[in-house]
Amino acid sequence: MKALVLGGTAEARQLVDALGEKAMLSLAGVTRKPLSIPHRTGGFGGAEGLAAFLRAERFQCVIDATHPFAAQMSQNAFEAARLQAMPLLRLERPAWPYEPEWLEAKSLSGAAKAIPAGARVFLSVGRQSLGAFGGRGDVWSLTRSIEPPLQAPFGEVISQRPPFSLQNELDLMVTHNITHLVSKNAGGEATRAKLDAANQLGVKVIMVKRPRLPEVLTVETAAEAVKWVKNLGE
Ligand code: NAP
Repeated sequence: MKALVLGGTAEARQLVDALGEKAMLSLAGVTRKPLSIPHRTGGFGGAEGLAAFLRAERFQCVIDATHPFAAQMSQNAFEAARLQAMPLLRLERPAWPYEPEWLEAKSLSGAAKAIPAGARVFLSVGRQSLGAFGGRGDVWSLTRSIEPPLQAPFGEVISQRPPFSLQNELDLMVTHNITHLVSKNAGGEATRAKLDAANQLGVKVIMVKRPRLPEVLTVETAAEAVKWVKNLGE
C-alpha cells in the first residue's frame, strides 16, 4: 500500500517512520527547519491539486495526520479522496477533556475578545494564529514559537520547541506574571503541562475549541493507523 501522510504533527512522523518506504510525508512548509525526516513540501493547489498528485504518484490511500486546527487541509483531503475514490483515514490525537474552570471560545477571534483589558496573557496558539489578537493592544502578551512570529507582537517573544515540562511552564508564567493563558485544544502530552501550570497558579485558561472537520474514519494513534494501512493491503 503506497500511502500519503499529510503531516505537521508528531503522530504523522511516527506513522511515516513505522510505514517506511511505502509512505510519503507531506508538509505545508510553514516551518523553515522541520525535523530531519524524508518528506515533500508545499501546498498541492486545493483539493483538485491534491487529487491530481495522488493520481500521478499512484498513491493507494491517504492519512490525514494534520493538526486538529488545520481545517482547510482536512477538508481538501476529504474532497480529494472522494474524487479519487481512495481510502482516507484521519489520525487525530484526542482533545484535552473540558475543565469547568476554562472559558471556552469557539474561535481565535472569540478568544481574543474574551481577554480582559490589562491582562498579561500567554498566547500559546502558534505563530500563524497571532493575527486574531492584533487588535488587543490593551493587553501585554507572551508569545512562544519555534520560529519568529509573522505578526508584530505586543509583548515578549520566546523561542522554544516542545515538549515542555511542568517546571518550564511554571517558571515561564511566574517570571512574566501571567494572568491568562490562551490555548487551542490541541490535545496530547507534549504541550499539556501549561494547563497544569495554569491550574496550580490560578491563571485563567481561555481554550479555543477545535474546528468541525469532515466526518471520516478516525484513529488516535500511529499504531492504529499502521494497522489500518496493513489491513488495506491484505
Ligand atoms: P490549513 O489552513 O488547513 O491549510 C492551508 C493550506 O496549506 C492548505 O490548503 C494546503 O495548501 C497547505 N497545507 C496544509 N497542510 C499541508 C500538508 N501537510 N502538506 C501540504 N500542504 C499542506 O493548515 P494550517 O493550519 O495553515 O497548518 C499548516 C501546517 O501546519 C499543517 O501541516 C498542520 O498540520 C501544521 N500545524 C498547524 C497548526 C495549527 O494550529 N493550525 C499547529 C501545528 C502544526 P493547498 O491548498 O495549496 O494544497
